[in-house]
Formats: sequence, C-alpha cells, structure tokens
Amino acid sequence: MEKVKSSGSFTFNESWEEKKERALKIVKKLIEMYQRDRILHGDPFFTLIRCIISQRNRDEVTDRVSELLFNRYPTIHALANAKIEDVQKLLRENGVGLWKNKGKWIVECSRLILKKYGGKVPDSVEELVKLPGIGRKCANIVLAYGFGKQAIPVDTHVNRISKRLGLAPPKAPPEKVEEYLKELIPKELWIYVNHAMVDHGKTICRPISPKCNECPLKTLCPYAKGFISDEEIRKT
Ligand code: SF4
Repeated sequence: MEKVKSSGSFTFNESWEEKKERALKIVKKLIEMYQRDRILHGDPFFTLIRCIISQRNRDEVTDRVSELLFNRYPTIHALANAKIEDVQKLLRENGVGLWKNKGKWIVECSRLILKKYGGKVPDSVEELVKLPGIGRKCANIVLAYGFGKQAIPVDTHVNRISKRLGLAPPKAPPEKVEEYLKELIPKELWIYVNHAMVDHGKTICRPISPKCNECPLKTLCPYAKGFISDEEIRKT
C-alpha cells in the first residue's frame, strides 16, 4: 500500500519493514498481557444488537440492558415484531443514552435482517453498514466477535493507542487507522487487536496520564520516548 507507506508524519526514522517488525512485537506482547481464552461470542445477532446499545454507553449498562432486552425478546422474530416505543422505553428506563434512535435501529435492523437476509446477519462490512445504526466500527465488531472472522474494530482505545505507538499517523481518521493496522499486522492476529488494546487502554494506556513507566511496551513506543504527544493526536 504505497500511499500508506509514504505518509511521512509517523515514520520515526524506521523503514516500513522495521515498523512491521515493531508492530508484530507490540501485538504479541499485548496478546501475552491480555489473554482471553474465548474471543468469539458466537452469536452475530446478539453481538450486533449489543453493539448498537453500547454506543457511547458504559460497559456495565450495555451488559445489563442487553441481557434485559434479550430476556424480554429472545429471538430476532420477537424483536422484529416488537413495538419500537416499547424497546425505546426499556432502553430509556435503564439509562441508555440515545435511546430513541437506538430503539428504532434495533427493531428496524431485526426487520431488515429477516426481510432482506433471510434472518441471517450478513458477514461482510459492506452489507453490515447498510443496516440502520451500524457504522464501520460496529460492522467490524460483528465480524470479529460475532463470526470469529479476522477484523480490527477501531474504537476510541484502538485509535488512541495505535497513534501513541506510532502504528498510524496522528491525524488519521478511524477507517485509515484500520487500514494501517491491517497493513502492519499479520492477518491471523487481527482478531486479538481490539480486545487487547481495549484492555490496555482501560488499565495502562489510559486516555489521560498513561502509565508509561510501568508499561511493558515502553521500549517499543514513540510516545514514551517523547516523539509524539497527545496534543498532536487530539488535533485530528
Ligand atoms: S508506553 Fe505509554 S503511551 Fe506507549 S503504549 Fe505504553 S502506556 Fe501507552
């Protein structure tokens, strides 16, 4: 990917091949640090609906409300036949932000998947982003965690940490960050990147005051060496 390789703002005096080697070391270390036996949730529809609920929500709320919703509407048919107002009410009463849109998207997604895809969640980004409320990040989450396919969802943690680690240019939008990561990291490891970076972002590489001194990645990290700052990243 010549365009990607020649983008000069994050070279850090390393060749593309050297960056690839460093990326591999980083990902292997992250996988070692944040082991997870089972990445696949195994239910694309549940993963998709959970992803809609999770947008700008805390994990605890998402987990609790997803369980409540699926207890009340256990199948895609039940959700497709639900009244939008009832789903909105459940979301609102349980503290879900953007409940109005999300309630509508959840019911409409269910109806569309039944009507257009025979009740099976589509397994490509191109089709998934056609569903209401599903952007590229959610589409990749469904692929990785619902289907177990190699995909890299770029959320706020993956975006920030990739840039601090010099694996994507500081000003790259999320879809470009995804492209850089896919170029730098071997495909068989893509599925681990999101969960490991999310865990790292919640514990060590936090948005404010990352704990670089105790981070096992510090010798591999341009941010820890002072080559890049949050100000440069935030200007995106
Ligand atoms: S060294 Fe600092 S900036 Fe780099 S990954 Fe670790 S915590 Fe994040």
